[in-house]
Amino acid sequence: MMRIFKILILLGALFPVGFAFAGENPGTRDPAASLQKLMAGNQRFVSGKTLHPDQGADRREGLVQGQNPFAIILSCSDSRVPPELIFDQGLGDLFVVRVAGNTFTDLELGSIEYGASVLKAPLIMVLGHDHCGAVEATLKDKPLPGHIEALAKRIKPDLKGKTCATDDKLRCAIEANVESLVGQLGKSEPVLAPLVKEGKLKVVGARYNLATGVVERLD
Ligand SMILES: [Zn+2]
Repeated sequence: MMRIFKILILLGALFPVGFAFAGENPGTRDPAASLQKLMAGNQRFVSGKTLHPDQGADRREGLVQGQNPFAIILSCSDSRVPPELIFDQGLGDLFVVRVAGNTFTDLELGSIEYGASVLKAPLIMVLGHDHCGAVEATLKDKPLPGHIEALAKRIKPDLKGKTCATDDKLRCAIEANVESLVGQLGKSEPVLAPLVKEGKLKVVGARYNLATGVVERLD
């Protein structure tokens, strides 16, 4: 009897760990399911019905031995655009790369490739936002101090080549930036493009509205 009791205690101790790996993130390998999960979280955030999922001690402890994020987010460093909050997700859910202007160089690309090929996250979202200071500064085309100039230099080519219906130059540039980056990531060799071709990875673009909290798809 005592032995059975001990086994039950052992199972109880192990169960949360096993559950954290086996039960969370349904559709983790499916781009469409991942996108749906992301956008559902944003709807909760917008409507004020956030669940704050996957943030308890069980989840935290269950992730010690590994992670299984269901999406990669390339977003701006802007303090008003924190992916885990605006998508109402928790620990281990999102693999986030943040840099001003949500752009990328080889270093960020390496992180994204790690998320897609090693961690097998099936979705990359390039997330721009309105009133983006990095894009705005790039548009002004004036010398910038220190290494901020390097950011503008990287962002600038992506702002060209889009015809916009709107007179809002900044809005148009933010869209152009996201769309260009989505195109580059989708074609990126040797890691991302083959995954996209095999249907194991999808790259999408979106813009976050600071006032409403809505994430709007741009692709
Ligand atoms: Zn920004």
